[in-house]
Amino acid sequence: DTAISRVKGKPAAGDTVAVRGHEGQWLAWAAYSPASTLRARCWSFVEAEAVDAGWLSARVREAVARRSHLAANSNALRLVFGEADGLPGLIADRYADQIVVQFQAAGVEAHRQTLLDALVAATDCGNVFDRSDSAGRNREGLPPTSGVARGVEPPERIAIGEHGRRFWVDVRHGHKTGWYIDQRDNRALAAQLAGRARAAPGREPTALNCFCYTGGFSVALAAGGAASVLSIDSSAEALALGRENWRLNGLAEAAGEWRDGNVFEALRALRAEERRFDLIVLDPPKFASSHHHVDRAARAYKDINLSALRLLEPGGCLLTFSCSGAVGVELFQKIVAGAVTDAGIEAQLLRRLAAGEDHPLRMSHPEGEYLKGLLLRRV
Ligand code: SAH
Repeated sequence: DTAISRVKGKPAAGDTVAVRGHEGQWLAWAAYSPASTLRARCWSFVEAEAVDAGWLSARVREAVARRSHLAANSNALRLVFGEADGLPGLIADRYADQIVVQFQAAGVEAHRQTLLDALVAATDCGNVFDRSDSAGRNREGLPPTSGVARGVEPPERIAIGEHGRRFWVDVRHGHKTGWYIDQRDNRALAAQLAGRARAAPGREPTALNCFCYTGGFSVALAAGGAASVLSIDSSAEALALGRENWRLNGLAEAAGEWRDGNVFEALRALRAEERRFDLIVLDPPKFASSHHHVDRAARAYKDINLSALRLLEPGGCLLTFSCSGAVGVELFQKIVAGAVTDAGIEAQLLRRLAAGEDHPLRMSHPEGEYLKGLLLRRV
């Protein structure tokens, strides 16, 4: 707000406006959003460019083309990631032949039909489902909305393939657009780690997946080589789909244990049961929704990481994540380091982790960074 001293005329929500500096010099074309604290989201920093149907379609085409090589590993891909692709507020994900979109800002909402046409043209997918039902829309003065945007109703579930594993995705009711596409590479890493643990002589590696949602990491761990996987989530629907995904991949029923519960308490219960694990995944929901909640979030991250580290076998690995944009990489690492100290163990940081390549970070928009993770090994 404070960055804008004056609005000339009466632009409507979603109108393209010229952003000018103190001397009146042109700075950018932007989408105006009177209801939002982000009053103008920049489309272009080139004055000669007209933000019209041709320009918008080109942005969509480029975004789709940049991801084409990722199709070798998965048919669940993020095609458009808002600001990172020059289309602030637009999310478009592809699940097999179904596209799912979210219009999260007034600018992209104003060009809804053009953007939908462009997505269909760029992908040859005729079916687009709209999941613009997230809270972010309210902040833009837009009502939540959901339904068929192009083509026909999506099926109850869509089968996707990721690194040779298969998963059911419920695009109508699932979190985000149905699946945590951003964790693809990290699920593949979890499978590799399980394979390595299995290869050690005499090892029957045990794994724990906290905040398992529909079992993405659980299946990856078991398919990779974990002898057993305990998965915990507080959503019964997510767990039910997790069990189905387990079956879909032909994994032994007895090797999968599913607990409906609060991870904070479940981790303490596991300590009381004297359970130990060779591989642990901690992928909680966003604990800090803004910088106002960083302190509370830090305590929550510390709590679960400390509890998890106490369950980790020597030589075992912890994959720990934070998707809170307000908690930076450095702070997250500090929190986890504190948990290692308090657990009274030693650990090595093997790798820093992030979202996959289809969720890039535009260097001019550092606020777009959110998912970060650490791979630790207990020594
Ligand atoms: N790792 C998953 C995504 C996790 S999303 C994947 O790769 O697909 C976070 C999950 O945490 C959601 O399924 C949500 O239901 C669950 N959740 C949120 N708070 C919880 C809590 N306190 N205890 C257990 N589960 C929780």
